[in-house]
Amino acid sequence: MNDDKIDSILQEKRIFNPPADFAKNANLNAEKLAELDKKYAEDPDKYWGDLAREELVWDKDFHTVLDWKPPFAKWFLGGELNVSVQCLDRHLDTGRRNKAAIIWEGEDGEQITLTYQQLHREVCRFANALELMGIKQGDRVAVYMPMVPEMAIAMLACARIGALHNVIFGGYSAQAIKDRVEGSECKLIITADGGWRRGKIVPLKDTVDEALANGGCPSVEKVIVVRRTAHEITWDKSRDIWWDELIAPQSGKHTPKSFDAEHPLFILYTSGTTGSPKGVIHASAGYALWTKLTSRWVFDLKEDDVYWCTADIGWITGHSYILYGPLQEGATTLMFEGAPNYPEPDRFWDIIERHGVNIFYTAPTAIRAFMKWGEEWPAKHDLSSLRLLGSVGEPINPEAWMWYREHIGHNQCPIVDTWWQTETGGHMISPIPGATPTVPGSATRALPGIEADVVDRDGNSVGDDEGGLLIVRRPWPAMLRTVYGNDARFKAGYFGRFGDKYLAGDGARRDANGNIWIMGRIDDIINVSGHRLGTMEVESALVSHPDVTEAAVVARPDDLKGQAIVAFVTLENDKPGEDLENILKQHVVHEIGAIARPAEIRFTPALPKTRSGKIMRRLLADIAAGRTPGDTTTLEDSKVLDSLKEQMNAKA
Ligand code: ATP
Ligand code: MG
Repeated sequence: MNDDKIDSILQEKRIFNPPADFAKNANLNAEKLAELDKKYAEDPDKYWGDLAREELVWDKDFHTVLDWKPPFAKWFLGGELNVSVQCLDRHLDTGRRNKAAIIWEGEDGEQITLTYQQLHREVCRFANALELMGIKQGDRVAVYMPMVPEMAIAMLACARIGALHNVIFGGYSAQAIKDRVEGSECKLIITADGGWRRGKIVPLKDTVDEALANGGCPSVEKVIVVRRTAHEITWDKSRDIWWDELIAPQSGKHTPKSFDAEHPLFILYTSGTTGSPKGVIHASAGYALWTKLTSRWVFDLKEDDVYWCTADIGWITGHSYILYGPLQEGATTLMFEGAPNYPEPDRFWDIIERHGVNIFYTAPTAIRAFMKWGEEWPAKHDLSSLRLLGSVGEPINPEAWMWYREHIGHNQCPIVDTWWQTETGGHMISPIPGATPTVPGSATRALPGIEADVVDRDGNSVGDDEGGLLIVRRPWPAMLRTVYGNDARFKAGYFGRFGDKYLAGDGARRDANGNIWIMGRIDDIINVSGHRLGTMEVESALVSHPDVTEAAVVARPDDLKGQAIVAFVTLENDKPGEDLENILKQHVVHEIGAIARPAEIRFTPALPKTRSGKIMRRLLADIAAGRTPGDTTTLEDSKVLDSLKEQMNAKA
């Protein structure tokens, strides 16, 4: 028996072709897409080399496209550039000087627009300040900030002087800061006094103080603090510096240095959904190239679009698709500090209406929350500016996809379901909105240049509709270069299984039309009587019941079947109706078959999620099996886990 096979039971027949208008004006239509695929197939090195020369501003041309000594890849050898120049300087004499680069809205409603020239000036001033403080090429700088413009400025200034930013999501604890700052020996932390979240102050500076207390983070020499909430904080005169005082005397001119194409651009830790987070390292030129191209291809960015990605910059989605990708394309990127339901559950729709947002990119966890809050909230607003919708972070259940299409996109907007990872740097599998027919729940096809495949345990491609392991056959420019300070983990985790092929860690299948379906994490696969089931299909069957908002299925050891399915379910209205447990079990049987019938359904008001909004099935599996939950450092709300534990104990 092939123990990496995953059985597929879900069938989705709905299909949506790109709207004719959209296809006509698209940056990439079916013809151009086919040309790119053909060019790649003929000569991958030439494909990447030509794109790199066309897209990036090089200070020195490269002599070799790729040096591949698995698992280590080097791209564009001999080339030199500066990534902040790609984002800023290159636009200053192309007619974009006075175009909005960042439109920022604070939770309190405050608004700031920075043109390319203004953003450039602020980045130069901060880069000068950092250099004056002695921050040099290769130094690590931690960024622990609310979503304010200074966060973007700080990151771009690091890139400009060749320091590696290590962004730590502003909701993480002192311990998480310690782990990440000590792990990468940061010299400096950039933070703010606080940030706003649902009308309350998030005391960022206090948390930094806590991380640095009692000799914590000994590598940190200085802490730069942005004034945001202006509440009282403690101050260490020998260590803490106000941002505004620091930049006040600085010149708005800064001559950028050239860095090697492979110079590491940043460190960023993964979400920690499947285990302890990995400190992913990305390199300058390859990352810049791919985030630029995918922004243009997948988001179809046009000169006068207002583009909005709702992620926090603390995640890779924000790095690549709030900052580096859109700015390199000279786009207008919207940045929002707050939560989607503050002051009311229509905050996002209000923002779209007021700013005339054209392209909107969010996560399934948010979409499921919008569904729960009700379609009356988006219905209050004129969303007709929207022309494209995107999804990222988790598999999107087909019913959530349909809801998104209908209630946000008014059946007019293509949806790009983008599969990728912190490690991949940019999109890997996604529809091209003007070219690819979309199917609810499928990320469709690998982008041109990405050789994604679904394979069995021996690395052979599986047949149509068979599930297996998602891999990438050849390196791509934006792939991670290593795990910070841990080449062994990098090698074992991603290349340990198939040598020179990248193992993504997700299960997938490809249907007869060539569309790829992500079936869930390999770690979460459930084995029921010899059938190996991914989590996605069973969960989607549950979510397709009108009473269900979210579902997470996990395995519990079972004497008879090996494993039994336990489903954790949240409901539209929090009270389960009579016999709902049996109704839902029957519903799953009806939708996908008896093999997937959950042995047990647990109703819960909330599911445990990472700070980035992903369901943490491994913790639910621990609870269902009566084990002590593993690593919880990336958990969003420990109360959710506590109440689930109590519930299980009460039952036992
Ligand atoms: P860790 O690696 O620490 O366990 P993580 O994998 O959640 O955390 P990220 O890099 O933030 O860290 O997330 C990447 C993962 O998110 C993918 O491997 C995949 O499981 C999931 N994912 C992202 N986008 C999609 C998508 N469009 N469809 C399905 N799954 C997705
Ligand atoms: Mg991962």
